[in-house]
Amino acid sequence: MPDIPTFDIAIIGGGPAGLTAGLYAGRGGLRAAVVEKLMPGGLVANTERIDNYPGFPEGISGYDLAQRMQAQAAKFGAQFVSDEAAAIAIEPKSFLVRLSSKAQLRAKALVIASGAYPRTLGVPGEKELLGKGVSYCAVCDGAFFKNQDVAVVGGGDSAVQEAVYLAGLCSTVTVVHRRSSLRAAESLQRVAFRNGKISFSWNRTVVAIEGGTQVEGLRVMDKETMKEEVLPVSGVFIYVGYHPNSAVVKDLVQLDENGYIVTDENLMTSAPGIFAAGDVRRKLVRQISGAVGDAATAAVAAQQYIENL
Ligand code: NAP
Repeated sequence: MPDIPTFDIAIIGGGPAGLTAGLYAGRGGLRAAVVEKLMPGGLVANTERIDNYPGFPEGISGYDLAQRMQAQAAKFGAQFVSDEAAAIAIEPKSFLVRLSSKAQLRAKALVIASGAYPRTLGVPGEKELLGKGVSYCAVCDGAFFKNQDVAVVGGGDSAVQEAVYLAGLCSTVTVVHRRSSLRAAESLQRVAFRNGKISFSWNRTVVAIEGGTQVEGLRVMDKETMKEEVLPVSGVFIYVGYHPNSAVVKDLVQLDENGYIVTDENLMTSAPGIFAAGDVRRKLVRQISGAVGDAATAAVAAQQYIENL
């Protein structure tokens, strides 16, 4: 039986929060592992352009930002483990993390930075036509819809930002929103309202996504008249919020009613030695800058926790 690799701190998730925790832990002289099942950067790596992260007045692509964050964490010694945390056991003064590959690692403290995954609408056709016109990632799939008509569902920052991105590729973009005003930031709204390719279908709920082998239309219902109509689109991009990736710690730490991890002001969870940072944590604002701030606090607090063990 090979020895279980042992770290001071194991960081679960390699998005901006996880990479920053890796940077701070490494720079603080800790042996740090960052466990990420996909590519570094998490959801951010699929964001075409970020223009509200300080230091980049011209904006930066999510992919580039993630690459830079990873390089900086690696420079200070963080080790990257390409795997998924499947289970965590609390031991005296340490944690045993079992990975999906069946490998294990041990750490004195954990930072859960596992982010969130897209919510689905739960309407007929959504599952069946996934990858055949239904998408949750405009940057990944937008190019397949060049010069075609598409719809974006949602009214938050993600929906509006990705509608603007899609307008650069597609003939038309219809934003379908269940209310008559957007939740997205004013600055994003202004850009979208000015874009001649983007139109808004207000007060509409999605009834179904229609099509045979490919999406052919989005069936929506007017909430006031209850009348249904089919928007003839070949792509439907869904941005109706996120669910936290907190399943791996659900029996170990306190979660709120939506599954977000509850922390104290030093970002420690209800389990001593387990910290949380970024979108998986209960908080008001979910931004990259906030995730990075969380991670700095969590990593420093984890280091203090380890020093007092
Ligand atoms: P969000 O802010 O939770 O917005 C979700 C949107 O989907 C809302 O407009 C909501 O409508 C709508 N919605 C929810 N359930 C729905 C359903 N079943 N059917 C139809 N519509 C539904 O999610 P998000 O836009 O993905 O943003 C998540 C977080 O990331 C936010 O904190 C956001 O600020 C942040 N973010 C920031 C940026 C940026 O700064 N550039 C970019 C992306 C995301 P209602 O408005 O009626 O509730």
